[in-house]
Amino acid sequence: MSDSPVKIAINGAAGRMGRQLLAAVAERPDTIVSAAVDAPGQPSIGVDTSVLSGGEATGVVVSDSLQDILSSAASDFDTIIDFSAPKVTLALLDTLKGSGKRVVIGTTGFNPAELDSLYNAAEQMPVVFAANYSIGVTVALSLLRQAAMALGDDYDVEISEAHHHHKVDAPSGTALAMGHAVADALNRDLDQCAVYAREGITGARDPKSIGFATVRAGDIIGEHTVLYAGNGERLEITHKATDRMTFARGAVRAAHWLSTQADGLYDMTHVLGIANLESAK
Ligand code: NAD
Repeated sequence: MSDSPVKIAINGAAGRMGRQLLAAVAERPDTIVSAAVDAPGQPSIGVDTSVLSGGEATGVVVSDSLQDILSSAASDFDTIIDFSAPKVTLALLDTLKGSGKRVVIGTTGFNPAELDSLYNAAEQMPVVFAANYSIGVTVALSLLRQAAMALGDDYDVEISEAHHHHKVDAPSGTALAMGHAVADALNRDLDQCAVYAREGITGARDPKSIGFATVRAGDIIGEHTVLYAGNGERLEITHKATDRMTFARGAVRAAHWLSTQADGLYDMTHVLGIANLESAK
């Protein structure tokens, strides 16, 4: 690979995460913002990306059309980082089919059919997809698997999460990823054992269930706790994000890493080089 910086496009550039991503790309010497996209009609269309990220002028203006960017030599990119919404992400993957581009996806809230479309698209291009790009959560997922294997079925597992009041999907993609990690380690199918809501006369807890609880309030960036409750003791594994830059830096690290990878679907364990440890269990 040459030493020139990896050229990165941001989809959803005007969003809460998009602005942080622009700043995170700018702070690394080995990455550069070369294109930015947001929805048609957004006030930021046509403005320099520095208006969104607060940095120095980049000369890159926010476009409302990925297609226009693809057909313009002036705004070429290697990898696009997408933190938007499920339907927007799937349209982006469709547009990029056969283009030779790479994609880092941070969007959450995909339904099972949408996830299938995403996985199909990733067979034809290099894609990193993670519900949470923080290093701490990636490590937490590994700890959760370890704890579940050691504690086994004698401990009830409950997952709680809290996010800001703008968040549109629940439970969070991270809570679901944590649920899958624990369920896999316990040889359970999360689709069969998850309990997403409780109200009224629910009956006693099914010992093999995994319960979820959701808080939406204020400006909470993202907090997750997995509780293993046994007889006479409780273990809690908690992660708290205090700054969105932690996700943005992780996603930009993923984009830089992806620039040398072949077609296929990757996650943060691949980016951090711990995927073999995970699959060696
Ligand atoms: P947001 O609503 O602030 O930003 C979304 C942006 O996408 C907006 O600017 C919106 O205008 C833009 N958008 C909508 N339609 C578009 C289109 N057709 N083309 C281009 N852009 C379009 O939301 P957010 O808080 O930034 O979160 C975005 C997503 O990222 C959510 O799914 C959220 O759950 C997820 N997220 C993931 C992580 C992670 O680490 N994986 C961390 C934080 C948030």
